[in-house]
Amino acid sequence: MGASLRLGRILGIEIRLHYSWFVIFAIITYFVFAYFHEEYTALLSMAAGLAASLLFFSSVVAHELSHSMVAVKNGIPVKSITLFILGGVASITREPERPKSEIVMAIAGPLCSLLIGSVFAAIWVASGGLNEDANRFHDLLFILAQVNIIVLALFNLLPGFPLDGGRLLRAVLWNRTRDYLKATRIASIGGQVIGWTLVGLGAIVVVLYFRVNEPPLDVDILDGVWLAMVGLFLSSIAASSYRQAAWREVMKGIVASSVMTSEFVAIPPGMSLMQLVRDYVQSRGYRSFVVAVDGKFQGMVNLENIRRIPEKRWDMTTADSVMTPADKVVTATLEEDGVSIAEKMEEHKLDGIPVVREGMVVGLVTRNSLAHGMQVRAQFRTK
Ligand SMILES: [Zn+2]
Repeated sequence: MGASLRLGRILGIEIRLHYSWFVIFAIITYFVFAYFHEEYTALLSMAAGLAASLLFFSSVVAHELSHSMVAVKNGIPVKSITLFILGGVASITREPERPKSEIVMAIAGPLCSLLIGSVFAAIWVASGGLNEDANRFHDLLFILAQVNIIVLALFNLLPGFPLDGGRLLRAVLWNRTRDYLKATRIASIGGQVIGWTLVGLGAIVVVLYFRVNEPPLDVDILDGVWLAMVGLFLSSIAASSYRQAAWREVMKGIVASSVMTSEFVAIPPGMSLMQLVRDYVQSRGYRSFVVAVDGKFQGMVNLENIRRIPEKRWDMTTADSVMTPADKVVTATLEEDGVSIAEKMEEHKLDGIPVVREGMVVGLVTRNSLAHGMQVRAQFRTK
């Protein structure tokens, strides 16, 4: 997801705000404000609007946090939770290895929302929301209960990717058939059906709004546009999640030893940056270098390391003084599979990863060599 602001950390997980989030924050605040302002002062209505938005987004964060907590417990790192115009997403860098972890992970969010919704509902009833003199604050509690129970828990349990119910469906099918790709395909089709159904419903709402003098339902044109937007978003994510699963299947069949290139440059620790740039960067276009002594891996130097040193000091600076030392370098083993390597590249924003055996660098897996290996593999796949 594009540009976002860092808000802070909860339980070690970064919470971020995508810029589109401010749109929905403003919309919710405004509608609640307008609703309260029919009866209360502007100040009080504004406070109610802000409180409603904050409570709503806290509900979303709590939902995503419960997914994340289960993920972390299963050894799956969670980088951040980002709030955006349609809710929240937890950025989980890896998929669960076992269907059972995915079942627990998928169900944690809706359970949490059900609980929060029940708390709002209980407060609503206990404070007299069912009485005749119920006021707008009661209505607000009721809506928060509804959003948590109906949208964040029940709607989310519909059996289609990327909804939690889709993850659940995939995990159950995966557990039964042991076929991850097939399970993902079915959950992805489910998600596309749900998505296009929402688009259809949205279109009906819009048509009714324009065609019928007195709409049979108390719906707004905005509801229709909103439904269609959510639907389009769901179906596109559903389709791409299947492509991603197919990609993983191919990558799983690749091992480092088959895609690594042995065309890498090993330099001695004492080589000056001046010589390195002149002999390898400018004339031959290499971008990263293995520093080694008698074949023993010492560290890596890349263009970024070199750029940190002003050009006039290149002749006095040696490679080992700017390199990332071997114990800090992300490496791969000969048997490591393509998924694991690609995830390391993604996680650490690397262009290449050295393949190390018994302290020696035996090859380099780059983005190019990995992509090439994937093409070859995809051509030989039988199903
Ligand atoms: Zn969820």
